[in-house]
Amino acid sequence: MNFADSRHVDELLSRNDLTKSESFEDADFVIVNTCSVRKHAEDRALGWIKSVSNRVKKLIVIGCLARHREEELRKAGADIVKYQFELDDIISKISNNVKSTEKIPSKIAAEVPIVRGCDRFCSYCIVPYLRGPVISISPDDILNEINDLVGRGTRIIQLLGQNVCRYEYKGYSFVDLLRDVAEIEELKKISFLTTHPADLDDSIIDTMAKTDNIMKYIHLPIQSGSDRLLKSMFRGYTTELYRKKIIKIRDSIPDVRITTDIMVGLPGEEEGDFLSTLSIVKEIRFDEVYMFAFSPREGSLDNLRKDILYEGERKRRLKLLIEEQRNITMEKKRDKIGRTMEVIVIKRAKTEELFFTIGEDGSPVLIEKQAEPGDLFSVRISVLKGGSLFGEVISG
Ligand code: SAH
Ligand code: SF4
Repeated sequence: MNFADSRHVDELLSRNDLTKSESFEDADFVIVNTCSVRKHAEDRALGWIKSVSNRVKKLIVIGCLARHREEELRKAGADIVKYQFELDDIISKISNNVKSTEKIPSKIAAEVPIVRGCDRFCSYCIVPYLRGPVISISPDDILNEINDLVGRGTRIIQLLGQNVCRYEYKGYSFVDLLRDVAEIEELKKISFLTTHPADLDDSIIDTMAKTDNIMKYIHLPIQSGSDRLLKSMFRGYTTELYRKKIIKIRDSIPDVRITTDIMVGLPGEEEGDFLSTLSIVKEIRFDEVYMFAFSPREGSLDNLRKDILYEGERKRRLKLLIEEQRNITMEKKRDKIGRTMEVIVIKRAKTEELFFTIGEDGSPVLIEKQAEPGDLFSVRISVLKGGSLFGEVISG
């Protein structure tokens, strides 16, 4: 979500004929976009702001931190503190030389928000308090934004929302949107983030399975392998339901890549709950797991609990989980060796003769072939070196 909002800022700046400065000391103003999901991210942003505030001419802080810790930001030296969506206003005050974005090239891959906010109120999460209720953006606005991006060079779109399954605009559903986006000519790959296990229905999986330009990739956060914990988190599904979704996804989409989020050290998480999480990780064998130790968030329900585990224990569990998953991630990558897949070129790598590409399952793949961003190739995955997959171009 933050990448999408930063892109929005970037576009606003370009449209207003403002260019990026080489260093923040030279800039007329610096915009810092922030996230509040975990305290660590907030503290790092605050620390950075404090350390640079007397070296920049004007410091603007946007994002959730602007809503959550406004006073501290002002004390730290921020000149303007505003929540994201009021930014257009700030920028038009800085410059009113509004230009069209038409001629400005866009990135080869871009994120487009389709749903803002969340109203699931998981017990640990601050997002619903800061981002507000679910608001689906109109299909016309989304399709216009995508068409505009595609017209300026974008070839890969990721549709974003805290829970994209909840997208609904006057009877027009997420599946309707996927179908319409997939029909946009010149758009080569589509993915989306995040799907919620309780809301992911078969129609979404079936649409993925039968639409060529939708990536064979799904991020389905499980959060915990303990039913007791899932209940106290208010996640709205059991491990049994989660397993059923995984079976349906794997049966419908051969070679699909599945990633997830897991938290450990939640209030009330006993050793047995944690072991259930380790065991489901071994059972499901996710391609990648984004792992977090619980971070108490003001305003969320879990912050009020008396049984918050001490930090050392939360960190110990996180370390064990990371160790468990590390081998699985490597094995899952190794399993791809010999497989043929379509890739789309993103950019030249630092090593001149190599290019970064994204595979049809969302895997990063390096190829050795002169190419332009957006080119499609069929490759055979040949080797795994230092955690990176390499592909030999077969055709394209
Ligand atoms: N809407 C998405 C999650 C968005 S936040 C979903 O429901 O899956 C991204 C991830 O941050 C979450 O999946 C969770 O694993 C993690 N997270 C959220 N709140 C957290 C907290 N208080 N402490 C640690 N991790 C947290
Ligand atoms: Fe937070 Fe739960 Fe909403 Fe995800 S679904 S943003 S974890 S409240």
